[in-house]
Amino acid sequence: MQLNEHFLGLHGSYLFSEIARRVNLFLEMEPDAQLIRMGIGDVTRPLAPAIVEAMHCAVDEMGQSETFRGYGPEKGYRFLREQIIKHDFLARGISLSPDDIFISDGCKSDMGNIGDILGVENKVAVTDPVYPVYVDSSVMDGRAGALLTGGVRERLVYLSCGPDNGFVPALPTTSVDVIYLCYPNNPTGLTLSTAQLKLWVDYALETGALILFDAAYEAFITDPDVPHSIFEIPGAERCALEFRSFSKTAGFTGLRCGYTVVPSTVVYKATNGQMVSLNALWNRRQSTKFNGVSYVTQRAAEAVYTPEGQAQCKATIAYYLDNAAMIRKGLTSLGWDVYGGLNAPYIWFKTPDGSDDWHFFDRMLKEVQVVSTPGSGFGPAGRGFLRLTAFGSHEATVAGIKRLQKWWSTQKKASSTVFNPSSNTISTY
Ligand code: PLP
Repeated sequence: MQLNEHFLGLHGSYLFSEIARRVNLFLEMEPDAQLIRMGIGDVTRPLAPAIVEAMHCAVDEMGQSETFRGYGPEKGYRFLREQIIKHDFLARGISLSPDDIFISDGCKSDMGNIGDILGVENKVAVTDPVYPVYVDSSVMDGRAGALLTGGVRERLVYLSCGPDNGFVPALPTTSVDVIYLCYPNNPTGLTLSTAQLKLWVDYALETGALILFDAAYEAFITDPDVPHSIFEIPGAERCALEFRSFSKTAGFTGLRCGYTVVPSTVVYKATNGQMVSLNALWNRRQSTKFNGVSYVTQRAAEAVYTPEGQAQCKATIAYYLDNAAMIRKGLTSLGWDVYGGLNAPYIWFKTPDGSDDWHFFDRMLKEVQVVSTPGSGFGPAGRGFLRLTAFGSHEATVAGIKRLQKWWSTQKKASSTVFNPSSNTISTY
């Protein structure tokens, strides 16, 4: 028996485990510390009443022999796929079929599993910084190659995003076959305009590459020039798959539901010359390895699209966006370089003293008990940046910003006389 030894090439510690380790170590030393957690991107607001009501009804149906349901359709119930088509696509002038939609238990599984239907020799491009799932699943599938010094993978193409290019990745200069794009972006909180996304679609059509478009944060878009779906761009229905989630749109991180759009028009040539639709391959993969999302959960997701569900979910998104605005304003007032947070629940900022991001993470934890996420956990280009999330309560967000403001104003005064980042020792937690 042999192992899939690609797993052995993964990083020993996943970003959030390392954060948890440092936080726990700190709490052992300071058990009474009142932490404000602005690190992990999990929602905190409860499910909308319309969703809860739909789940109660669905549970009652499951308890009656006349309305009980066993295994559901492999792609998901048609009642949900039709609502998705109507509200998420037709309403934006995008013509897709319910057969192009695959209901899933969330976007992460599908983003991780999609590699099952793609050749192992494909050259994969990722933005840098990047949501780590794309890199780690490429490692597991054997597409990423060895880990090189600097934290990059030998066979991946990194599209660097930083202040110099406005965090907009440039088209690759070497040939690539698969491109992961995530907009609104985790971790930077930035977006691509329609014109910027069109460049990628045109590139993929020209070169035969496939775009895997992660739109998990679509619901946070407020700017009219930012596309909600890659299928707003003509031609994307021939070169892109889109991954959506109810996690951040409707608070389903614990409930688990999402969907993947695989248009039947996305077709590639096999080595024997046969033209193969990715929809057919993904359908085959899912019907073999996945048995669907529970009926109750799919009814819950359907309720997101009712007028009450829409109003309630939008109110929750507005709540998080208010937090994002407060964080942006608060950090900007300190003179820090702040990005994102306008069309996304993430705020990305540069360490104000030019120090290493893990070092600044430790300082924020120790000196103001605010938990953040170090940018280098998202790739080499994340070094020197940190991410804050807007998913906390208003009260916690206000308190966190106040702590940072108070702290940094004293640091600034001190820095002119004694503070020297290069001589600061790295904390031990
Ligand atoms: N994609 C991105 C970019 C994310 O940030 C996350 C969660 O943080 C996910 C996907 C996961 O979505 P889901 O909860 O639907 O699996």
